[in-house]
Amino acid sequence: MSDCLFCKIVAKEIPAEIVYETGRTLAFRDVNPQAPTHVLIIPKQHHATAAALADVDDGLADEVLKAAHSVAVLEHVADSGYRVVFNTGLGAGQTVFHVHAHVLGGRDLTWPPG
Ligand code: 5GP
Ligand code: ZN
Repeated sequence: MSDCLFCKIVAKEIPAEIVYETGRTLAFRDVNPQAPTHVLIIPKQHHATAAALADVDDGLADEVLKAAHSVAVLEHVADSGYRVVFNTGLGAGQTVFHVHAHVLGGRDLTWPPG
């Protein structure tokens, strides 16, 4: 998708601080971090939302979740605890319509979220 911000990050047309990469996923730091660790994990293939990703039957959603956990380990938040969030749809606060998992950690995280 030529007008998609995260596709442009995959294509290296926009810079990002990449922290982890697999054949089909990419993880990079959020430009506006909400916690000491705030990394976004995306499939390199464009899917708009988590709902669309859930409809893909080739294991891609699994890979995104596994990549999220790998990032948590690399960022040393796996033991202390971390949160994986897919804002899905406008009402949930999704602003970039290329599915991404937020991995947040490194501080106490309150519940329920706002
Ligand atoms: P959403 O609101 O869709 O769940 O999350 C989008 C996230 O993308 C936000 O946390 C926002 O800070 C982040 N973001 C927006 N533009 C950029 C960018 O150009 N680079 C990076 N690294 N993060 C971005
Ligand atoms: Zn995209």
